[in-house]
Amino acid sequence: MRSIISFAREDIKLPRKEILRSQGIPDESELSENFERVYTEAIEYFQELAEPKGIMNEITTSVFEGVFRGEGLNENENPVEDIYRKSSYLVLFAVTVGHILSEKVTELFNTGYYADGYMLDSVSSYAADQLVELAAQNMQLELAGREPAAASLRVLGYSPGYCGWHISGQKKLFEVLHPEEIGITLNESCLMSPIKSVSGVLIGGPAEIHEFVNSYPFCHACRTKSCLKRMRSL
Ligand code: SF4
Repeated sequence: MRSIISFAREDIKLPRKEILRSQGIPDESELSENFERVYTEAIEYFQELAEPKGIMNEITTSVFEGVFRGEGLNENENPVEDIYRKSSYLVLFAVTVGHILSEKVTELFNTGYYADGYMLDSVSSYAADQLVELAAQNMQLELAGREPAAASLRVLGYSPGYCGWHISGQKKLFEVLHPEEIGITLNESCLMSPIKSVSGVLIGGPAEIHEFVNSYPFCHACRTKSCLKRMRSL
């Protein structure tokens, strides 16, 4: 299965509470008039400028072993390796909110509109993460259509640069997936362009394979602890 997806903007949920929380604003806080404007305009920029799309390619475990090994810089023990080895299906993916929106974020910062840039950065990052969830739902539906027993499997996305999978893993992932086909490129530092893009692997399997204790040595330095939210969603 190799596919290119154009996501509908209206399918990307941007809950106000979550966006403001990512800005460090506690729930139920009253915003100043100016901050309310900054928030509203960021949502409007998203609605106007986002071009959300993605590319997905199913691969075998043996091919993924090479992708995951990458440049050989992964942490010796990491959750991704434990999870993919127990999985039933693996799909490489890359998703993006597109060049125009990503460039707007840069433009706002470069022209001194820091609050506006920071808010649009939060909205775009949140939207990019939502695209990973939509891609996972897409894979889950595809698997269920192919094999009814697969309907009970859970699909979650994992990316280089997180949870012990070294960022240099992007190189091998790009070699196999070719996200250039939808305009996503990789530079020497393994950063993607457009900047608001996410790549990685969607891992499908019984829900319990995605559960683990986040006590790896590198977890101390992790600010998001996003694995907890993902495990709660299972
Ligand atoms: S705490 Fe952070 S680094 Fe550790 S597994 Fe969870 S998300 Fe990954």
